[in-house]
Amino acid sequence: MTNEQLWQAALGEIELNISRANFITWFRDTYILKNKEGLATIGVPNGFSKEWLENKYNKLILRALRNVSGEIKELKFLINPAPSHQTIDRPLKAATKKEMGAPLTQPFQELEIDRETNLNPKYTFANFIVGSFNELAQAAARAVVGNPGEAYNPLFIYGGVGLGKTHLIQAVGNEIIEKYKKKKKVKYISSERFTSEVVGSLRAGKMDDFKESYRQIDVLIIDDIQFLAGKEKTQEEFFHTFNFLYQKNKQVILSSDRPPKAIATLEERLRSRFEGGMIADISQPDLETRLAILKCKVAEKKLVISDEVLNYIATHVQKNIRELEGALNRIIASNQLSAVEPDLNRVAKILNDVVNAPKKLTNYKNIIQAVAEFYDVHTSDLINRCRKKEVVYPRQIAMYLIREELKKSFPFIGEKLGGRDHTTVMYACEKLTKEVEKNNTLQQELILIKERVYSK
Ligand code: ADP
Ligand code: MG
Repeated sequence: MTNEQLWQAALGEIELNISRANFITWFRDTYILKNKEGLATIGVPNGFSKEWLENKYNKLILRALRNVSGEIKELKFLINPAPSHQTIDRPLKAATKKEMGAPLTQPFQELEIDRETNLNPKYTFANFIVGSFNELAQAAARAVVGNPGEAYNPLFIYGGVGLGKTHLIQAVGNEIIEKYKKKKKVKYISSERFTSEVVGSLRAGKMDDFKESYRQIDVLIIDDIQFLAGKEKTQEEFFHTFNFLYQKNKQVILSSDRPPKAIATLEERLRSRFEGGMIADISQPDLETRLAILKCKVAEKKLVISDEVLNYIATHVQKNIRELEGALNRIIASNQLSAVEPDLNRVAKILNDVVNAPKKLTNYKNIIQAVAEFYDVHTSDLINRCRKKEVVYPRQIAMYLIREELKKSFPFIGEKLGGRDHTTVMYACEKLTKEVEKNNTLQQELILIKERVYSK
């Protein structure tokens, strides 16, 4: 039985045990990542669902899974955007048919992923809200639609999690398909998937087929390219594919959580290729834009929610657009359960969980490890008296995060990180506190690192 079949069977049972709204809210975009030696790892779309599934549904999920496969003893949840090839379409679609109660908030558009292009039709320019935070990226993307392969090649979009990179690069693909009436072959792929294709083709001795199939493409879109870091063989294959397409004036579109120069262990020749095209960033949306996005989502769902409530959400959920949507969906879901227009008190109560979701305590070692991984330095260099230039900044970040997240004393932090004096730690924390206020990139780096810490 494949993981997918296993998960579908389990979902079928879970669905019978909880409300429709909860089922949709919490189990959409989940899947089994791994199932080995009694440990099933469930991929979830964000930290919030992870927390929720862990705390509220752990038992139920385990029971459902064990009913299908007795060997499973334990569950683990891992934040991982749903790969397009592993969506859970059947049980959810079946469920919509035997619908009871209020109509579903959203048809499962995201599940109608095109098998050939891997594109999800829900990502369009029409539902992509533009503000100063993503204006440049959006304009560049539009220019690429107008002149694929010629306007900006490659187009490199970067920004923190949940800010719209995937949405935007897929919108380009969808629009090109529509505009050129399928005359252009578009392919969207995550870099993890790309990597596993390379590895699989190598293993099966089918590298030529792999190369050939990529050379047919007119528009190649690769998401989260930072994951190619450190994967030499994949980078090599990507480099050849890239050059081939580039020389034929085929369009390449890439996304990443940081700019090319910040991707450690990215081969120089790739970096300079990326920098040779158009690089545009997406930063965080301001209040006004957050409100506009909420209004757009509500309209899409053909629902009515008062401005007061939307304002409240937009003011309180600031981190990224994915969370903003998540908060809105929670309000809608809870509203469906009670069928009363939500008032501000209830909204506040529901969002309290989202905004002030109790932080799980972590160990300072997890923070050090996450920082080391993120900046691609050795943990031992952070912990020891290493004076290499490249560890100075990561070490300061680790100091700052341990202070912020765990409120440890300055001497404690100094002792754990290179045997530094407490004044050094104080200085680092003060410096970064000021820097965070004005530095968007730093804010995003911190978000990414914290995600790593809390997803461990
Ligand atoms: P990323 O790939 O940067 O992590 P996504 O593209 O997955 O982020 O976006 C997260 C969610 O927010 C998606 O549901 C997406 O549709 C929505 N979203 C992001 N940016 C916008 C935008 N500018 N307008 C409307 N929705 C957006
Ligand atoms: Mg993405």
